[in-house]
Amino acid sequence: MGVVAMDIWKLINHFSKNANWGDPNKMAGTLLLAMDAIREYCNMPIVINCGYATSGHVTHSYHYKGMACDWHFESSNPKLSVPEFLSTHVKIVVDALDDLQLDEFVGLGIYPYWHRPGFHLDVRGYRARWWRDGKGIYHPWSHLTELTHAILSQHSAQNTTT
Ligand SMILES: [Zn+2]
Repeated sequence: MGVVAMDIWKLINHFSKNANWGDPNKMAGTLLLAMDAIREYCNMPIVINCGYATSGHVTHSYHYKGMACDWHFESSNPKLSVPEFLSTHVKIVVDALDDLQLDEFVGLGIYPYWHRPGFHLDVRGYRARWWRDGKGIYHPWSHLTELTHAILSQHSAQNTTT
């Protein structure tokens, strides 16, 4: 306990405790600092969908430890297409993780089929990457080019068969 009252939220510039964190006091400081750095790097407003939770996620989810949040960029274009999402939002997040030296230490999930396409980020301490397709199936990926190809090929296949 410090003599002077201090909490992590005083160091967070771009997010308020009032966002949808679940419980802002249960969020890991490492996640908040990482999210704040990503927000600074990308220079686009971010909407937090959820953070700390006690249910609603996969078993052993980092949400239950306050080490994860789901989020999307507040886009000026609400009808952002999947290809646009990949070439803009996903690319800048991948670049941010590289440049901020977070790449090897976080879990990043790509969700192109959310109502507002977005991300899961967690601070698990090692690298994990996945994306969820339109049927709710999870797929691993490691590089942006591979991810883009996988999503776009499945996306165009779905669009031509329906
Ligand atoms: Zn999540």
